[in-house]
Amino acid sequence: MSFATDLKCLKCGLSYSLNNKAVIFGGCHSCKTDKFLSPLIVSYDYKRLTECTTRETFGKKGSGLWSFSDLLPVQDNRYQVTLDEGHTPLIKSNRLNEELDLDNLFIKDESRNPTWSFKDRNCCCAISKGIELGATVAVIASSGNHGASTAAYASKAGIQSVIFTKGSINDAFTTQIQAYGGLIVPVTTSEGRWTLMERCVKEKGWYPMGSYTNPMPTGQPFGIEGSKTLGYEIIQDLDWRVPEKVVLPLGLGEGFYGTWKGLSEMEQLDLVDNTPSMISVEVEDGAPLAKALNRGLDHVEKIAPAPSTLASSIATSITSYQAMRAIKDSTGIATSVSDEMILAAQKLLASKEGLYSEPASAAAVAGVRSLREEGRIDRDETIVIVLTSTGMKDPYATTIPPPIAAIEPKWESFLDFIHTSHGLSD
Ligand SMILES: [Zn+2]
Repeated sequence: MSFATDLKCLKCGLSYSLNNKAVIFGGCHSCKTDKFLSPLIVSYDYKRLTECTTRETFGKKGSGLWSFSDLLPVQDNRYQVTLDEGHTPLIKSNRLNEELDLDNLFIKDESRNPTWSFKDRNCCCAISKGIELGATVAVIASSGNHGASTAAYASKAGIQSVIFTKGSINDAFTTQIQAYGGLIVPVTTSEGRWTLMERCVKEKGWYPMGSYTNPMPTGQPFGIEGSKTLGYEIIQDLDWRVPEKVVLPLGLGEGFYGTWKGLSEMEQLDLVDNTPSMISVEVEDGAPLAKALNRGLDHVEKIAPAPSTLASSIATSITSYQAMRAIKDSTGIATSVSDEMILAAQKLLASKEGLYSEPASAAAVAGVRSLREEGRIDRDETIVIVLTSTGMKDPYATTIPPPIAAIEPKWESFLDFIHTSHGLSD
C-alpha cells in the first residue's frame, strides 16, 4: 500500500491534495513570483514507514518499480502499470576507472530499461498515477527519451499519447514513438511546445507527463517519484554502502532530483546513516544551473540562445528548482563539459567498459574526469555514474562511420582485410 499523504511545495511547504489534477501540475501558487515557480513534491507518512521498513523487507513488494510500492503515490494496486522496469545492473569499472584515476567507480546502466533509458522509471509511475486520476490522453513535449518512454507506457496502459517534438527529430525516435502508437506533433520552437501543451492540459484535460510551466519547469511530481527508485537501487546494489558521489547528466532535472530524493529518503527511513553528494553535468554552451549557482542566485534563469550540443538529451536552456535544491541540500557540485570532452568520454566508456551510451551519459563521465583532474574528487571515493540511455538511440549524433566494403568469403581476403583495415598481423 502507498503511504503517500499529500504534495508539498518544495519552497514554502504548503500542502496540496494528491488528487487535485487542476492544480498539482502548475506549481505552487502561494510563493510564485515573476521569476520563480516552485514545484510540488509528493510527501509520505515517513514515521509509519520507518516503523515498518527494514533492509530485509525494503523493495520486495511487487514486480518492476512496484517492488517499492509503499513509497510510490499510486494508491490502488489495480492502476500499477509495468514493463518490468528498473533493477538495472550496477557495474564496477575495472578499466575506465584506471583512465580516470579512480579506485571505486561504478556505472548504473539504465539503458537496460524497457525503452532503453532511465525515463522508464519516471513514465511508469507518472502513467500509473495518471490512470488512477482518470487520464485518457498523455501529453509531453520531448524529442527524445521522455517522449519514447511516454508513448510506450501510454500504450501499455491503453491510453493515447501525444508527443510535441522539435521541428527536427532523429529517425530512431520517430520510429520508436510511432511504433508504440504515439502521435507526433512537430513544432517549430521549443517554447511553443510548452504553450501548446499547457492549453492541452487546461482546455482538453490531457494528462501532462512533463513540464510545461513558465518561468521555471516544475516537473511531473509523480514521475519524479518513479525516478527516485534509482537512488534506492544504488544503495541496495552497493550492499547498503553509501557512495561519496552520484553523478548524472542534467537536463530539466527530474531524474537528477528524483535520484537525490530516493537517496535522502533512505536516510530518512533509517536504512542508512548518511547521503552522497550529487554531481550534475551540463553542457558548457548553456549550463543554467552551474551559472545560477556561481552567481549565488536562489533560482535558475533561462540561458539564451538555447545551447547547441550533440548531447541532445541535455540541450536545455533552463533547469528546475529541484535540481538546484539537490545540489544545495547534498553539498554537491554543478559542473559542465564541452562537446569535445563528451565525444572523448563516449569512446572511452564504450572501448574500456563495453558500454555504448548516449552523449548525455558520456557527459557525466567527462564531468567526473575533469573534476578528478581538478582534485575535486579524491581517488579513493566511491563514485556512481548513471548511464541514462543507449548510444543506439542517436548514433549519428556523434559520428557518421565511413562505409565498409564487403569482402569475398575467402580466407586470403579476410587476412588482407584485417591487416590493411584494422592493422592486425598474423
Ligand atoms: Zn510554495
